[in-house]
Amino acid sequence: MASKIDITAYKGNIINGEFVPTPATRHSIDPATGEPLYEVPVAREEDLDAAVGHARTAFKSWSKTTHEERASLLKAFADAIEENRRGLEKLQTMEQGKPIGLANTEVTMAITWLRTFATMQIPDEVLDDNEERTIYSTRTPLGVVGAIVPWNWPILLGLGKVGPALMTGNTIIMKPSPYTPYCDLKLGELAMSIFPPGVFQVLSGDDSLGPWLTKHPGVNMISFTGSIATGKRVAASCAKTLKRYVLELGGNDAAIVCEDVEIEKCMPKIATLAFLNSGQICMLAKRIYVHEKIYDQFRDAMVEFTKNNIKTGGGFEPDVIVGPVQNSMQFELVKNMYAEIEKSGWKTALEGKVRETSKGYFIEPAIIDNPPEDSRIVVEEPFGPIVPLLKWSSEEDVIDRANALETGLGTSVWSKDVARAERMARQISAGSVWVNSHFDVAPDVPFGGHKESGIGMEWGIEGFKHFTNSRSIWVWKKVFE
Ligand code: NAD
Repeated sequence: MASKIDITAYKGNIINGEFVPTPATRHSIDPATGEPLYEVPVAREEDLDAAVGHARTAFKSWSKTTHEERASLLKAFADAIEENRRGLEKLQTMEQGKPIGLANTEVTMAITWLRTFATMQIPDEVLDDNEERTIYSTRTPLGVVGAIVPWNWPILLGLGKVGPALMTGNTIIMKPSPYTPYCDLKLGELAMSIFPPGVFQVLSGDDSLGPWLTKHPGVNMISFTGSIATGKRVAASCAKTLKRYVLELGGNDAAIVCEDVEIEKCMPKIATLAFLNSGQICMLAKRIYVHEKIYDQFRDAMVEFTKNNIKTGGGFEPDVIVGPVQNSMQFELVKNMYAEIEKSGWKTALEGKVRETSKGYFIEPAIIDNPPEDSRIVVEEPFGPIVPLLKWSSEEDVIDRANALETGLGTSVWSKDVARAERMARQISAGSVWVNSHFDVAPDVPFGGHKESGIGMEWGIEGFKHFTNSRSIWVWKKVFE
């Protein structure tokens, strides 16, 4: 039986299987109410040094464990999360703002991800095998991994790093975003009674902690998810010690809607995947290209659907899809994009609204009607509930426009003619491309970005490989005959 967690108590960072308090503490706020949440530690550089030292010690034995031993502990960890899932879901809504139904989805996904990772293993490959010699390609763990997690999906994106790092024999130190430290600290607390000390540690801190982690000479790899600008800083810092890194960065996904779709059948998915989590997901439909023959009809249907089905409100209210924007910094960024509507004279199909009077960071969805292709709402990732609809007429042109940006995380093509849609999909430069869907992810399917949306992939066996070095072993059998 795993321990029951108390989501109101934060005794310290999770270092070497113990709570380690810090002299200073801080708190985040509930974005729906503006109320302060609980005090959490602010790690000092010496706390990180201690964690890295313990992770290096733990690596010596953890890297020698078998696949079965690692899998059994990862499954026990998933069970412990499941036993505590209601508390974690509530806490996720309190700290992140996402509706409780979506918090439930996030925890379900995280548990599924861990259980699937527990079944995955990179097989040795035999590259050559004859009487004289055998050549194997094998993989070895890197050592200590630093996991840097953003504030939009702290549980799934955190555990999406922890599972593969541990299954491939590394030890890991997870650093949540200062905006959302709570669930990640609780995951570390649950892990205390499952993994050997030093194998999985969690450090909460302020803005200094990320840079300390990326430059630390005792850390061998950084697995980072966040914005493109920060990703570039992380890469530059890792270069100084030639650390390995995987970067999962921002996106500005196109959804291409062909003229033969049945609008009412695809609308629920397209509209929901434009506004889910208040638009704060890296892979959402952020530029919707609609064939000119159906543009007006599609636009009107999207406005109707959004008005009737995409409710804005606090995460604990029933049927809410758009919760508050997560933090004041993001609120200001999204407000700035809404202000651009008037400044740039964009036409709105759905006006949207910033709720300035409420205590929380609430913004209602806006749909921009065919703005110029070079406008900010098309070329920048808004990370808020605002989306442009754009017209297209030629396949070649719309594919060029979908591929035109420096981002390349995801793109979708919607058509009844699946062969045509697949032919279009194969011309897209993005880490994930969907036909008649968007934002599908799975633990055994690689996920990542082209161009500035990232370097390397997470999840799937390909993602596992990024947590390892390649080692070729040559075995000559007859030298001494
Ligand atoms: P962010 O880049 O501001 O922060 C991400 C993490 O990096 C946080 O933990 C932060 O504390 C840390 N950090 C900040 N500066 C650092 C530095 N100099 N060195 C090391 N760490 C540092 O991103 P965010 O605002 O938390 O997340 C939103 C962004 O993340 C969006 O652009 C979104 O598209 C992207 N994102 C990408 C994916 C993906 O998988 N590709 C998933 C979710 C979010």
